[in-house]
Amino acid sequence: MGGCDTTEIIKKFGTPLYVLDENYIRNTCKEYISALGEYGNGLIAYAGKALLCKKMCKIVASEGLGLDVVSGGELATALQAGFDTSKIYFHGNNKSRQELEMAVKANVHAIVIDSFFEIDLLNDVCKKLGKKQAVLVRSNPGVEAHTHHYIQTAKVDSKFGFFVDDGTAEKAIATIAKSSFLNFLGLHCHIGSQIFEVTPFELAAKKMIDFAAKVKAKLGVTVSELNLGGGFGIEYIDEDRPLTPKEYIGLVAKQVKDYCKTKDMPQPKLIFEPGRSIVGPAGVTLYTVGAIKDIPNVRKYISVDGGMHENPRHALYQAQYKVALANRLDETCTEKITIAGKCCESGDMLARDVMLPPVKSGDNLVIFSTGAYNYSMASNYNRNLIPPIVLVNKGKAEYMIRPQTYDDIMNRDV
Ligand SMILES: *Cc1c(COP(=O)(O)O)cnc(C)c1O
Repeated sequence: MGGCDTTEIIKKFGTPLYVLDENYIRNTCKEYISALGEYGNGLIAYAGKALLCKKMCKIVASEGLGLDVVSGGELATALQAGFDTSKIYFHGNNKSRQELEMAVKANVHAIVIDSFFEIDLLNDVCKKLGKKQAVLVRSNPGVEAHTHHYIQTAKVDSKFGFFVDDGTAEKAIATIAKSSFLNFLGLHCHIGSQIFEVTPFELAAKKMIDFAAKVKAKLGVTVSELNLGGGFGIEYIDEDRPLTPKEYIGLVAKQVKDYCKTKDMPQPKLIFEPGRSIVGPAGVTLYTVGAIKDIPNVRKYISVDGGMHENPRHALYQAQYKVALANRLDETCTEKITIAGKCCESGDMLARDVMLPPVKSGDNLVIFSTGAYNYSMASNYNRNLIPPIVLVNKGKAEYMIRPQTYDDIMNRDV
């Protein structure tokens, strides 16, 4: 990876270890920017919740991306990294007063409003600070997409945002338009994750543009920004067939352009927010195999030195991964194996029924596509330490996040 031999990396940094390929991240950023380039007026905002630390902020900033944050902690990270706040969007269905104050003071580009409660709260925050804040309205267009399927629903059952079809979103915009402290900038929607098709994005885009035309006619307000969210799929297993950024974004952007023309509407600034697809495939996790338990005619378990504390995705939602033995990559896979973590929890598995060469204790397992939603979801469950992240590039391997120590996990104990 990145010109480095992973078995050498293990000798130097130990396991468990997250490894991230900087060039892969940068190239993906470039592909996204170029895919949106033809549209003219657009922004790619990296969804920081996939993986955020100061170095990640610096990498995406230097590639010209904006940033989505969803908490005060993510915003604080971006601010410390010196991220240009005029490219920061703040999302979330229950931001606190303190978080909103922090965002307004920092002059973030837009706060994405998610509820009537938040309209009042933000209005009050701005009034007290004597500042005006630009906002987007998180709208639910009734298109729901996940992995290989999408559905068009009349479904109001989501914790996020305002439903379009029942007039709630329009009511939210009308309320915002009356405020002297909030500046309505446009609409946001995010229709799901691990999406492998363009159609649901196109449907959502059309729905949002129709809605923009309606609010212009009825309320006289202009949608100058249209943010269509993220959710672009990546390859975790062989069945996953992701499209390229050009295929996803290039096509949707063209559709938005054409559809605005037919509706005689000015082209809004267009924003996409990929997270997983920027950082997910750029990362792997390296482990050392310890205990092996073969229950004849039932299952063979191998236990590794990581687990759900550093990758909770299988335990949370049966996520699947491709795996290999980093030190024996060229050997034939003949055994069906289940990979267990070291946490005291029966559900602590990392992968189930995957094929590997006959595994021995001391082998180095690699799990692929762990760059997104692994470190960012990690915990100190069982007081295990969260592994460090090593960034590899041009044959060099360096810490991007240093190892935790036992003192780190005890230093807030009273
Ligand atoms: C999670 C999220 C994203 C990113 O989703 P990915 O699947 O990581 O691309 C973008 N926008 C919003 C609002 C999100 O909640």
